[in-house]
Amino acid sequence: MKLDLPPLREVISRHGLTAEKSLGQNFLFDSQLLDRIARVPGSLEGANVYEVGPGPGGLTRALIGAGAHVTAVERDRRCLPALAELSEAAPGRLEVIQGDALAIDERATVGDGAHIVANLPYNVGTALLVRWLSGESWPPFWRSLTLMFQKEVAERIVATPDSDHYGRLAVLAQWRATPRIALPVHRSAFVPPPKVMSAVVHIVPAAQPEGVRFAILERLTSAAFGQRRKMLRQSLKGLPGGLAALEKVGIDPTRRAETLSVDDFVAVARALS
Ligand code: SAM
Repeated sequence: MKLDLPPLREVISRHGLTAEKSLGQNFLFDSQLLDRIARVPGSLEGANVYEVGPGPGGLTRALIGAGAHVTAVERDRRCLPALAELSEAAPGRLEVIQGDALAIDERATVGDGAHIVANLPYNVGTALLVRWLSGESWPPFWRSLTLMFQKEVAERIVATPDSDHYGRLAVLAQWRATPRIALPVHRSAFVPPPKVMSAVVHIVPAAQPEGVRFAILERLTSAAFGQRRKMLRQSLKGLPGGLAALEKVGIDPTRRAETLSVDDFVAVARALS
């Protein structure tokens, strides 16, 4: 869908949308980059998209342009008039909710099967990611996640064992989902530019391994990586049944958490369950 809209910079100056640091506002204006991000989930023709933090609507334009129906949650009231203009230019394609994405009941708001796409401030993004990956119910309500992160966080999500970035976030993101870094994004693409580089991560749900509860895996990784430089026989001491579970699946207790694969964690969690 071709949208007849003024350039984003004009929209921002007309509505006085100076970037607010406390809201993590680093806007994207480059329409080619925004189109590339909107292509990361695959075809969005007729798809439902839940966008968090649309701001002045750059990414929202690209998502609508790619054929999506967008439900967007924005905390900053100042952005609402600019988003209303976009909604008018694309009738029936954009619903805007003013509020805090951390306080929204997403399943009730967007239903099942929506793609989630967001360019969010770092702290909110990580909190939401953990929420979307958590819980006992799987598959989740979302079909895919396409999220902008600081490069370092993106590396933590896709990290493999024995690497500096490997930890709880990698296990959480990989035990029943498949993450990949889809697109590195240079800091100069943002207005204003943040201090660090960014990357778009794409995550799709996979099958949940049988016989493992999320809460158990969470406790296990929390204990194991809580003291990541220590041997497992030390770090799992306080976890009831932890050492017996290691023995049951044949993992040497002198190993450290960062050497265990995601499958190893799943096997230990299964023994604990
Ligand atoms: N999507 C726009 C873009 O790519 O140019 C804006 C991205 S900017 C990095 C992050 C946006 O998230 C801002 O518009 C900010 O107001 C909004 N935001 C920050 N915290 C939020 C929250 N808790 N819930 C909803 N939106 C939030």
